[in-house]
Amino acid sequence: MDFELDELHRTIRDTARDFTNREVAPYATKWDKEERFPAEIIPKLGELGFLGIRIPEEYGGSGLDTLAYATIVEEIARWDGSLALTVASHNGLGSSHILSFGNEAQKQKYLPRLATGEILGAWALTEPGSGSDAAGMSTRAVRKGDKWIVNGTKMFITQGSVGGVCVVLAVTSPEKKQKGITAFAIEMGTPGFRASKHLEKLGMRSSDTVELSLEDVELTDDHIVGELDRGFIDTLKILDRGRISIGALALGLGEGALAEGVKYAKDRKAFGKPIADFQAIQWMIADSRTELDAARVLLYRAAELADRGVRFSTEAAMAKLYASEAATRACNRSLQIHGGYGYTREFPVERHLRDAKLCEIGEGTSEVQRVVISRALLSA
Ligand SMILES: Cc1cc2nc3c(=O)[nH]c(=O)nc-3n(C[C@H](O)[C@H](O)[C@H](O)COP(=O)(O)OP(=O)(O)OC[C@H]3O[C@@H](n4cnc5c(N)ncnc54)[C@H](O)[C@@H]3O)c2cc1C
Repeated sequence: MDFELDELHRTIRDTARDFTNREVAPYATKWDKEERFPAEIIPKLGELGFLGIRIPEEYGGSGLDTLAYATIVEEIARWDGSLALTVASHNGLGSSHILSFGNEAQKQKYLPRLATGEILGAWALTEPGSGSDAAGMSTRAVRKGDKWIVNGTKMFITQGSVGGVCVVLAVTSPEKKQKGITAFAIEMGTPGFRASKHLEKLGMRSSDTVELSLEDVELTDDHIVGELDRGFIDTLKILDRGRISIGALALGLGEGALAEGVKYAKDRKAFGKPIADFQAIQWMIADSRTELDAARVLLYRAAELADRGVRFSTEAAMAKLYASEAATRACNRSLQIHGGYGYTREFPVERHLRDAKLCEIGEGTSEVQRVVISRALLSA
């Protein structure tokens, strides 16, 4: 196993870092304060190929691997968790479902537009009454002649109001439980399909999170992504890779906060010397450095397994669990190093801490990751 990025991935990292420093870092705090989705940055992300990272070149994408995807998300997250969430969910959920399970017509129709950012992808699994127990959803698609009529509500959907196409999971065969759920690609603007509420959040404030409502939405078999009744089985595979990107997002937030903490510790003086001279501060920095490095190794392992085409569910869950909790600790320590200033919005660490907390919840809570990891051991 290689613990260093190779030349290609170093180039990708440097490109993403340079872009983030120029185009994101100066505005991230402003976007967060305004709680505004920064639509103006989307075409620039598209030009760099960051919106079609794993989409093959034949569909206009960058044709890169999971490690490249994780690297880009990490670099953006160093400065802006919200934008990193946009990139992670667009690439890893909506686009990925169409790429992995869509038919050729759906790929031709959507992937080139998703890759450039002409449209953003959304993915709607969670509902007001079901999150961790995702298969307990109540959104129903009922067959009527040659149509499907879909009714239900989806909750916490990223890009739910700014996206162009959304992969929606709905129950098609209730008696078959999780083997009776189907994925449908629904374009925004389809009659009966709308964002019914914008959600105000602790963090990730400039990413778009909405409740989606489906009222008698008429679809045909052409909207089905993958096979009828196999949507939930496919969803579990989408979530595996998605968890690597949430781990990468967490890692980036932790790295960003740690860098700020180190800088501040060298600048700030107390009792006649830089606070970096105090052992209490040094230990916080050492703990964050060590834990973030451990998170990186877990992430690179999961990404490498994913790219080798072998099972990586447990490894992705471990990487996501550890990286997200390590990131929250690292952000919290960096805020502590900043003292009272850390508690103000003058410094980015409070935003990083608020953003990092989402990584312990989205795409499966920490508790759910522990269920996935322990189940693999206990059922062996
Ligand atoms: C900002 C944001 C963006 C999101 N984006 C999307 C998106 O784009 N698409 C989408 O479909 N969803 C999205 N989600 C939803 C997210 O994936 C869910 O919030 C998450 O899976 C948890 O579900 P829940 O909120 O219903 O919590 P619940 O499932 O109600 O969990 C509540 C608590 O119970 C615990 N719990 C539940 N079951 C178990 C168990 N078996 N063992 C132990 N503990 C358990 C949980 O860990 C948690 O602590 C987003 C959420 C947020 C906040």
